[in-house]
Amino acid sequence: MVPVFLVLGMIGQDFAKSFELYPAISTAPMISQADADSLKAKSLAKVFRGSTDNEVALDNGVVQFRMSLQDFGKPIFLQRKTDGNGGVVLPALSLVLNGELFVVGGENPRWVRVGARGQLFSKPFDVRQIPQTNYVWPPRGMGVRFMWASRDYSGLMVEMTYQMVDREPLVSQKVTVRNGSNFPVRISSIHQGDSGYPSGVFTGDQLNWTLRPNRVVELPDGWFRLDGQGKLVVSGRKQALNSLMPWSVLKGQALGSWPVDTKNVNGLKLKRGEVILIPTESKIPWSVPEQVDFDAVRLVAEAAKKSGLVLGAEVDLGDIPGELADRVGGSGSPVCWHSFAGVFWRQNVLANWKRMGIQVVELKGELPSRCSQAGHGEHQTPNQAAIENHFAMRDLMRQGLSVGIIIRHPDVTAYGPDQWE
Ligand SMILES: [Zn+2]
Repeated sequence: MVPVFLVLGMIGQDFAKSFELYPAISTAPMISQADADSLKAKSLAKVFRGSTDNEVALDNGVVQFRMSLQDFGKPIFLQRKTDGNGGVVLPALSLVLNGELFVVGGENPRWVRVGARGQLFSKPFDVRQIPQTNYVWPPRGMGVRFMWASRDYSGLMVEMTYQMVDREPLVSQKVTVRNGSNFPVRISSIHQGDSGYPSGVFTGDQLNWTLRPNRVVELPDGWFRLDGQGKLVVSGRKQALNSLMPWSVLKGQALGSWPVDTKNVNGLKLKRGEVILIPTESKIPWSVPEQVDFDAVRLVAEAAKKSGLVLGAEVDLGDIPGELADRVGGSGSPVCWHSFAGVFWRQNVLANWKRMGIQVVELKGELPSRCSQAGHGEHQTPNQAAIENHFAMRDLMRQGLSVGIIIRHPDVTAYGPDQWE
């Protein structure tokens, strides 16, 4: 939290100074998409000083994204470097906070521009173990963060972070609201362009989310990509997936029966390094497995090891043990990640999968999404529940990666865009 006297002391600061030490945009290299795809290009995403004092840029050799310092945080253009023309303009993002409109890059008289700075983003991609090692990974990212402080609520801050990773023709944005004030703050809506907020996580742009004092809300990332013709694609998941999450292409095959004997394992058409999956039919309660489950899994683990295969499991989200009150959509539907059952499951599965030697988990079934059940954490609205459940899933994926367990689901990724094109 930035004390108020410090904030007020920064009024009128020349934000171009924050970027004086970065290289000039004129020195940014250009690489062809062919070279980018061949993984020859490494560590290219950088922050640059813009062509004028009023601009700052992110550039990875493939695309360039310019932001305004004058119109603080306003995107100027995103451009494919080989095109040479002006590129595309990203739609302006706006929030309504305590009934007042806040526009990134707009006139916000009730807000002070606190700071703008470039940042290295190696940490989000810092994963210690993945089953296969023949990837150029993790991609490093660079970003620029703009920060505003409210004049009306001391300690209330909004941050907009634009991020670019090596090689990818895309830029991501993340909005964080930090309520360090002594008052509740209501985020009524979030809006960007014609299609609402560029995230598949919640529907519409109405949030109606009351942020209590000392709470921080990070909203789902928005991703913007340029296609081969230089046209803007919102999301653009598939193209980014293999670079951001190379394990997403790991091939897996489920066993046809459970429990299995060794010949079932040998009958699978899998190559070394690919994934043998324990089927959902096993109905193993992964948060509270019994000795018989450990024994059955060990047989497959030994057979997989002999064939050089990676051990995985299919898990049906509808099978997570829970009461009706834990569930989002009635019996058989997934439990809410913030219900007691959801929290218990999340706290226990990783340790059990690790003990069993499971390195890949394929989640099946719908995700717990909008939820209006009472008694689940801080849920206020179904949209808020959808965002919280989404992030709980993403965090589980990231925790999994940090201990060498890959968790996959068609609708959520640990990093990168979530929406299918
Ligand atoms: Zn819930």
